[in-house]
Amino acid sequence: MPGADEDTICKVEGGIMAAPSVSAQLSEDDDPEHLLRTVMSDFDLKILDSTPVEYRCYCSRDRVERALISLGRDELEAILRDQGGCQMTCQFCDAVYDFTAADLEKLLQEI
Ligand SMILES: [Zn+2]
Repeated sequence: MPGADEDTICKVEGGIMAAPSVSAQLSEDDDPEHLLRTVMSDFDLKILDSTPVEYRCYCSRDRVERALISLGRDELEAILRDQGGCQMTCQFCDAVYDFTAADLEKLLQEI
């Protein structure tokens, strides 16, 4: 908090310490404004603007292909030989990308 005085920092820290865990609070009441008001209870809070948020993953087949290519020729050839194809799951959004033997062979040509 650049420029904040010690009193303000103490009040914010006190509000954070007094608030229940974020997960616990949001499971009881999913309005983020209520959570903010709990943490900032020592302040005269004014909401100036609000913007809806959403979770979005930027994974794509192209990115997964680049990740596979980055494994290197030996590793890709081993996957092709041992498993035929492979299935890659994005660890952020659980999107599944299937790669057949033909797909892997095509990636090997790009290395
Ligand atoms: Zn994803």
